[in-house]
Amino acid sequence: MTLHQHPEAIDSTRLDKLAEVAIRVGLNLQPGQDLFLTAPVAALPLVRRIAEHAYKAGAGIVTPLLSDEGVTLARYRHAQDASFDKAPGWLYQGVARAFTENTARLAIVGDNPMLLANEDPAKVGRAAKANSLAYQPALEKIAGFDINWNIVAFPSAAWARQVFPDDGEDVAVRKLAEAIFAASRIDEADPVAAWKAHNAALRSRRDWLNGQRFAALHFTGPGTDLTVGLADGHDWQGGASPAKNGIVCNPNIPTEEVFTTPHARRVEGHASSTKPLSHQGALIDDIRVRFEGGRIVEAKASRGEAVLSKVLDTDEGARRLGEVALVPNSSPISKSGILFYNTLFDENASCHVALGQCYSKCFVDGANLTPEQIAAQGGNKSLIHIDWMIGSGEVDIDGVHADGRRVPVFRKGEWA
Ligand code: ZN
Ligand code: ZN
Repeated sequence: MTLHQHPEAIDSTRLDKLAEVAIRVGLNLQPGQDLFLTAPVAALPLVRRIAEHAYKAGAGIVTPLLSDEGVTLARYRHAQDASFDKAPGWLYQGVARAFTENTARLAIVGDNPMLLANEDPAKVGRAAKANSLAYQPALEKIAGFDINWNIVAFPSAAWARQVFPDDGEDVAVRKLAEAIFAASRIDEADPVAAWKAHNAALRSRRDWLNGQRFAALHFTGPGTDLTVGLADGHDWQGGASPAKNGIVCNPNIPTEEVFTTPHARRVEGHASSTKPLSHQGALIDDIRVRFEGGRIVEAKASRGEAVLSKVLDTDEGARRLGEVALVPNSSPISKSGILFYNTLFDENASCHVALGQCYSKCFVDGANLTPEQIAAQGGNKSLIHIDWMIGSGEVDIDGVHADGRRVPVFRKGEWA
């Protein structure tokens, strides 16, 4: 493991703008608000700039928590077996408490997506499950949108090497940095204003879908004939929206999706993935699944099938959908043609569904619904939330009304 930060390959002016967008657009951090952030060690140049912009915006205290590849691998190479059922619950309880006290949450992604590719899948699965379980009290507050949160990306060398394997490291880092800046709208003269305009465009799609009140979406394309029932009282979301603490934020930078909650018990038919899914260091490719009564009853993959079955066996909700999202095939990330091996980017290249936990904010008046009400309306509950892509330039989507009337929503991967 090398710690090579490539400051020369990453344009520092634009890195600074990315930090500003994360604080002003992504989080909309408020004066006096504390900030908890996680990042790989390689992302330190961005962590420091984010801290600067956070304090300029009036942050109370910024608390970073850094992760390191070498430390992670040391566990897989040398830890006793019992280690893989452990997680720092004490830490996550503190994080959950921080969220209760209105601390904002920022995550910088940039890890090597294939870090655990050669480790024992059983250990990877156990460690992930123990971690999800321990993280649940904090995740509930993120999934419930209690506080303003945001995810941004840093072009680390380990990630860049995976995305551009044929280039030298400096060239790969420069290319990944360019792609992240373009997708995050950092190249615009005034990125903050560009995000305002983009949020308005996403809002108009969202409002149209909410006006239609479809009972289901019907996806058709190569290997896909899937009817996704929508949850009762579902609400389409997209772009900036207010967290329960009243702060309007953009949880993902970049974002191109409008999304809502499917009905956990009303998904029928089969679907094929259109892009590989990078999950905790493993690549799962050519996923083919069949749903009955909302539940995946058959799942295959040409690669990573063992990892996929582990994921599906996490809990009862892992076999059901918690999100359906619409992204035009002409989105800037899709047009870049790059497979990022990272959901933050790849989910914005294509229509997708997510296995597992739903977002309570994707219900009308979601903030005031109890978990029991959300479940009754069709919201799914699980320790996992994993997006995978089912959209492409060949996929059509119809909106289906309760009386069976159909309205074209997507044709050939674009808004109809
Ligand atoms: Zn999504
Ligand atoms: Zn998702």
